[in-house]
Amino acid sequence: MKCNKCDEKAIIKIPYANIALCKNHFSEWLEHRLERVAKKYNMLDGVNRVGVAVSGGKDSTTLLHLMYNLSKIYGFELVGINIDLGIDMGKGYSSKSTEFAVKNFEMLGIRYKVVRVKEQYGFTIDEAKHKIRRPVCSTCGLVKRYTLNDIAEKEGLDTIATGHNLNDMAQFILSGYFSGDVLDLSRLKPVSPPEKGYKVKKIKPLFLIYEKEILTYALVNKIPFIYDSCPHTFRVGGATQDKIRRKLEEMEDEIPGFMLMLVQNFIDKIQKPLEKEYVKEDEVSKCKICGRPTSKGRDICSFCATRISMGVLSEARGK
Ligand code: SF4
Ligand code: ZN
Ligand code: ZN
Repeated sequence: MKCNKCDEKAIIKIPYANIALCKNHFSEWLEHRLERVAKKYNMLDGVNRVGVAVSGGKDSTTLLHLMYNLSKIYGFELVGINIDLGIDMGKGYSSKSTEFAVKNFEMLGIRYKVVRVKEQYGFTIDEAKHKIRRPVCSTCGLVKRYTLNDIAEKEGLDTIATGHNLNDMAQFILSGYFSGDVLDLSRLKPVSPPEKGYKVKKIKPLFLIYEKEILTYALVNKIPFIYDSCPHTFRVGGATQDKIRRKLEEMEDEIPGFMLMLVQNFIDKIQKPLEKEYVKEDEVSKCKICGRPTSKGRDICSFCATRISMGVLSEARGK
């Protein structure tokens, strides 16, 4: 199979675009595609200092390299962020992830920040899994959200970019329909304005890029990344989530571009009316412990409440 743009051997076939590309033309194609997506959804309007949340996996490390290229074109500052969540499960997952993230930050020579949740907040996600009754991913999501907002404030970031890819988005949308989770669906956007009480917007620049394309880009550009998945992944979503993802991939094989149409049409045509109907402006109060925003009527935020349940923070001391 030959590249459609030169005489080199093609390394990837992109059926929905009806092209096959060599290593160099594929990288160029993906970089342009990302830039077009960023422009169409106004992701980079007015940005000065962007934090990229890097777990060390293929999506976030690739995002970091792509954002690095964009930072040179658009002139914004890039800050690498890694959160060491303390997920070990006998496999040292978090420490390996941090190693890969740091390797990429240093390769690019950018400023970075590693937050070790155990040192900073007194508990790990593995410990929370045993002690807190809610699903581990929900605690983990809360910790990541809180930590990212906190870093953004301290580092003066106006934007945080995360590595959600097209397959993640398609899975989220289909699962949302399946479970009828209309509020979650109505909040799903590639660009989220700052949460109430914060100043940082969140962007998902890879949301229209297939997982396979990201993996190919990482491999051909020799981006170092951790292959292991979080050991909690398979225990949490369970068989249903797994099957939804596999079925979407089968549909993609039969109807090239299926996931792309599903996500793009959802975002361009369905999300806004849903948001108008279901998302109400939340009023916020101030957490009496950490001073961060909390839901109206609650004097302690969910994050501090979690720390109290973990026994690492006393409500009276606030420390
Ligand atoms: Fe956290 Fe769950 Fe993702 Fe693991 S799979 S990193 S526990 S959200
Ligand atoms: Zn070529
Ligand atoms: Zn708090």
